[in-house]
Amino acid sequence: MSYPRLQNFIDGAPMANASGDVFDVINPATDEVIYQVEVADEHIQQAAIDSAKAGFAQWSAMQPIERARILHKAVALLRERNDELAKIEVLDTGKPWQEAECVDVVTGADAIEYFASLAPTVVGQQQEVAGDFYYTRKEALGVCAGIGAWNYPLQIACWKSAPALAAGNAMIFKPSEETPKGANMLAEIFIEAGVPAGVFNVVHGAAEVGQWLTTHSEIEKVSFTGEVGTGKKVMQSAASNLKDVTMELGGKSPLLVFDDADISEAVSAAMLGNFYTQGEVCTNCTRVFVQRGVYEQFMSELLERTQKNIIAGDPLDPEVNLGALISKKHQQLVLEYIDKGKQEGATVAIGGHALTPTSAPQGYFVAPTVFTDCDDNMTICREEIFGPVMSVLVFDDEQEVIERANNTPMGLAAGVMSQDLRRAHRVIHQLEAGICWINAYGASPAEMPVGGYKLSGIGRENGLEAINQYLQTKSVYVGMNQLESPF
Ligand code: NAD
Repeated sequence: MSYPRLQNFIDGAPMANASGDVFDVINPATDEVIYQVEVADEHIQQAAIDSAKAGFAQWSAMQPIERARILHKAVALLRERNDELAKIEVLDTGKPWQEAECVDVVTGADAIEYFASLAPTVVGQQQEVAGDFYYTRKEALGVCAGIGAWNYPLQIACWKSAPALAAGNAMIFKPSEETPKGANMLAEIFIEAGVPAGVFNVVHGAAEVGQWLTTHSEIEKVSFTGEVGTGKKVMQSAASNLKDVTMELGGKSPLLVFDDADISEAVSAAMLGNFYTQGEVCTNCTRVFVQRGVYEQFMSELLERTQKNIIAGDPLDPEVNLGALISKKHQQLVLEYIDKGKQEGATVAIGGHALTPTSAPQGYFVAPTVFTDCDDNMTICREEIFGPVMSVLVFDDEQEVIERANNTPMGLAAGVMSQDLRRAHRVIHQLEAGICWINAYGASPAEMPVGGYKLSGIGRENGLEAINQYLQTKSVYVGMNQLESPF
């Protein structure tokens, strides 16, 4: 059987590999191969480096405002092609169309728009020192690598390329091998918008292609999104030539629901933070701590809404709000976690099994699952599951819940639901997490820096500071006085 082919995107166009090696991409909602992808072999890898270096020379020499103008064109093209791109994301990831249509492409375009707008605002400093002076220049790093996860493929490609390209760098991007197509589409759009060839190359493959990127001596930086374990490996390899790194890793984030919270809103936050994108979101609040006085009310509304409002099925159906998990293997892993939860004594309040919706009977679905009678030491309360599995824990007082919430090696996100203004801020300031929400959950505008504390990451994406992570400072000292020398 022959399938459509996706090639590596190098130097402004798709490029055939020499080895002929390919891998399959499967639609998680149908269990069918939808296309095949050529692996980035040595021939591709060399071409990617050569063209990225040439692209960098041209792009970094352009005025920032020229780069901005071109990137804004790419933003317009992304928005124009929203539906076509959103459909690619649905077929690759299994996520619902109703999400992809209004989130994935939109938030990717937003980040490019934001950083394009910032490009011409980058300035150095100057200072007089003893009659002499120095000034600083903010210079691009060179060729950077981006390595993406499979949950928000196009968005991740945009979030990484936006600050990198705005700052004048070239990027070689490797999307997840599960969801490779969106990155090629972005590469095409950049070319159409006028980004020079080689400034954004896409290479395909799994760990070994990622490893190649992280060890190559001519790559100056790696921005990685993925699991904590992979992040550690990436950082180790990146140390080979002291590459700069940005690490966006996993989490086991807490949501704290105080007894003065609006309970319906708290249920919305808990459901959004566990069932959106069928639970495959890094910032998910998989540990929901509920204060004892409102526990009954919270649970009753949570179970009722989970029972009534979740529609699983063909992700392309606009009514569907729960899609398929990324792969059969991942579905099995999530189901194993659910079994472990049961074995360790938690109670399945709802869900706890695979689903076979009639509109997508072969898909890798897992029912939205809520565990009660949980204890902080259970595996389901400690490890990232990355599926629609929520653990509800009960607490009595503020100090206790802060300690329990922080009792994890990860620190990506946290949420507080409370109508007491002072308590909400007091508590959130004590939580060890880089992305926090008060009476909200999951929103992540391009203007807001995001990234993890502890094992959840290094550096930030989005927001003002992210552009600096793709720039280096050159200090230039200028002697205005006669140079004195003892020699
Ligand atoms: P993963 O770590 O398995 O893979 C991520 C990427 O790394 C893939 O492109 C993969 O091919 C590549 N890779 C694998 N081994 C490598 C190696 N040795 N060297 C270099 N690259 C290698 O993660 P995943 O399963 O694709 O994604 C899910 C994970 O991503 C979850 O842990 C989730 O929390 C995390 N995530 C984090 C964020 C964030 O912003 N913090 C966002 C999305 C996903």
